[in-house]
Amino acid sequence: MKKAEMKVYKDRLLALRARLRGDVTQLAEVALKKNSAQSGGDHASMPIHMADLGSDAYEQEFTLSLMETEEDTLSLIEAALERIEDGTYGACEECGIQIPKTRLNALPHAAMCVKCAEKAQ
Ligand SMILES: [Zn+2]
Repeated sequence: MKKAEMKVYKDRLLALRARLRGDVTQLAEVALKKNSAQSGGDHASMPIHMADLGSDAYEQEFTLSLMETEEDTLSLIEAALERIEDGTYGACEECGIQIPKTRLNALPHAAMCVKCAEKAQ
């Protein structure tokens, strides 16, 4: 891939990283607020509704699993940025063929071609 082409994907990866980092921080703040609300004394005198507690716990778990996925994506983005620095970006890590641009446009942090990614799953 030409350097000028890589620059386009680098910009996209940087933008994606910035957005994900913002989201992760926001999600962490929300999860922490929920935690402090549950352990705080404000609601001690209020009747406990089991259904409410249940949905809160579920929501918190969902938020945390979402954060894990975003952390995974972030590490893929970091790896892709390193490949751009190395000049190997765009080549499949498994078989070495050029990853189609349609795939990179949809998934700029993709490290493998579709066939290898399917095999790896
Ligand atoms: Zn491949």
